[in-house]
Amino acid sequence: MNTSNNLRETYFFLLIILILSTIACDKNNDSDDMNNPSDPASADLTSLPFGGNSPTDILIRNQGDPQPDFLSLWLCGLPADGAGANNASDWTNEDGTWDYTKKPQVEGDVVWDHEFDIILDGNGNRVITGNNLPDHPTGIFPIQQNTEAWQYDKNPNIISEQVIDITLPAIPEIAPEPNCVFFGPAGFSLTGAAIYHGASTLGTDAAAHEMLDRFGGHTDGTERYHYHFPSQDLQDHIHEHTTGHSALMGYMMDGFGIYGPHGEDGEILTSEDLDECHGHTHEVMWDGEMVELYHYHWTYDFPYNIGCFRGTPQ
Ligand SMILES: [Zn+2]
Ligand SMILES: [Zn+2]
Repeated sequence: MNTSNNLRETYFFLLIILILSTIACDKNNDSDDMNNPSDPASADLTSLPFGGNSPTDILIRNQGDPQPDFLSLWLCGLPADGAGANNASDWTNEDGTWDYTKKPQVEGDVVWDHEFDIILDGNGNRVITGNNLPDHPTGIFPIQQNTEAWQYDKNPNIISEQVIDITLPAIPEIAPEPNCVFFGPAGFSLTGAAIYHGASTLGTDAAAHEMLDRFGGHTDGTERYHYHFPSQDLQDHIHEHTTGHSALMGYMMDGFGIYGPHGEDGEILTSEDLDECHGHTHEVMWDGEMVELYHYHWTYDFPYNIGCFRGTPQ
């Protein structure tokens, strides 16, 4: 190789470096724009409606509510042995709303031996298996006696392994009629733990009354860790939001996805933006492609995740 070839190679190399660094600078500029403070993507968590107070109702099919309603949760029934916390007065505002920022949390960072797998079986099914232990630390359960949370919620339950083995349609379909929501898992988060609907077994707003950890989760008499609220830590743990529609956060038991609280333009959605099942239809990322598909959203206001099943639950 002669000197002029070497020189040409060196120039070529420098040119590539120059192009690459120009691209990198452009990327930095883009992300500066995304962090613009005029971004509408911020939520007021200090004034949230209580579920169970009209119009954010908790409807119960076997107690005379035959259909779902906008802004509401439509349960199939209530368990006979309801238990839980029911005093929210210290974070209730004068106007009857509640303030998430004033509500205590279950402290702690307990790490779990997480197992979770989601596969497409090639026959039209999505198969979800795991042990329901999340891939993030949780608060300490049972709630410890010397903590602030214990003053409000004496949840005595531990977190234990559970068997997850469910088969969902890979591309779910809307059912002729919506279906009511049952107690137990209404879906599964991509963190590997259950998503529960927004009511406690007492038939009150679980997120507003029960003591949750910083991921919006806690445990119950079944010893199953589960979420009631889309806390920032839970969202960021799954996928930090930058711009546009939220990323997928889990699958509900009818196979439809549940996404974070941001809509198509990156705006924070509320239940008013969604139908009575707490979802809507537009193009979303689904198994690596943009597909026009019904989906649910987590929102900061009741019913938080699902209002009814738009599809047929497993
Ligand atoms: Zn719960
Ligand atoms: Zn959406």
